[in-house]
Amino acid sequence: MLKPLLDQSTENAMWIEKTVKDFIATSPENTLKNQDNDKAFEMPLVGFSSGDDPLYEAYKEHVGPFHLTPWEIFVATYKDFSIKANELTVISWVLPHNNATKVDNRKEKFYPAERWARGRIFGEEVNNKLRKHIVASLEAEGYRAVAPALTPQFSTRISPKYGYASTWSERHAAYASGLGTFGLCDGLITAVGKAMRTGSIIAQIPVLPTPRPYTDHHAYCLFFSQGVCEKCISRCPVGAITKAGKDKEKCYNHLFPVTQNYVISTYDFDGYGCGMCQTKVPCESKIPVKQDV
Ligand code: SF4
Ligand code: SF4
Repeated sequence: MLKPLLDQSTENAMWIEKTVKDFIATSPENTLKNQDNDKAFEMPLVGFSSGDDPLYEAYKEHVGPFHLTPWEIFVATYKDFSIKANELTVISWVLPHNNATKVDNRKEKFYPAERWARGRIFGEEVNNKLRKHIVASLEAEGYRAVAPALTPQFSTRISPKYGYASTWSERHAAYASGLGTFGLCDGLITAVGKAMRTGSIIAQIPVLPTPRPYTDHHAYCLFFSQGVCEKCISRCPVGAITKAGKDKEKCYNHLFPVTQNYVISTYDFDGYGCGMCQTKVPCESKIPVKQDV
């Protein structure tokens, strides 16, 4: 029997996912820039959400009016007000840190391992190159696209409800795109865990949204789902995580200048990082289950 032809939306999804994965698998840009030239990231996850997903309006209500919807970013970029939000797709990815990075950081208690700090700085450079590569690949096929984190509209703000925030959140785009839910420490727990970085693109291309296998934004965190764990609380070297969540200011004050001074003086590059709450915890590399505690 002949196989049914793939519809356009499925073909688009497969092509985009392959383009993201090929970049991470084969590009020499995927590097920690250390002596061993280790890869920064292992195989990504890719998910999709619609530009008119009500979650994007809800983020604006929760975080603050400065938080932008996919439509607002796209229109600000292309100055084309005829575009409808449902013509846009948010493409989101999760880039898991390489295993050696996680192994090194598990051994640390206060300052980041060198690989982790490199993953924070040079890993984000990889993420930016991936953003540009996906935009260029889409444009080459005739689709308009923009990387929110690389637009002039992207900036950090103070949310009345959540403190430090930004005009676009990669983690919230990943949540909307079916890739994971939030943990007690604020990180996004995904099928490959929380020791990862995320990125996204908004494109005018038809792709069906990835189903969200959750309704609760804390579904994958054992503290919220089972009332157990709290490992991220004890991993935090400065007491920034409690049962009430993460104190962003305490965390920030550890990153700057404490870890920054350490990375500059010890590893000899301008960086920072911590990631204690992302490593040596049950949700580091997978969706945890009660037996992991
Ligand atoms: S370490 Fe435990 S409590 Fe903390 S985010 Fe992960 S699952 Fe939740
Ligand atoms: S990144 Fe470090 S300082 Fe910040 S909450 Fe996590 S463990 Fe604490």
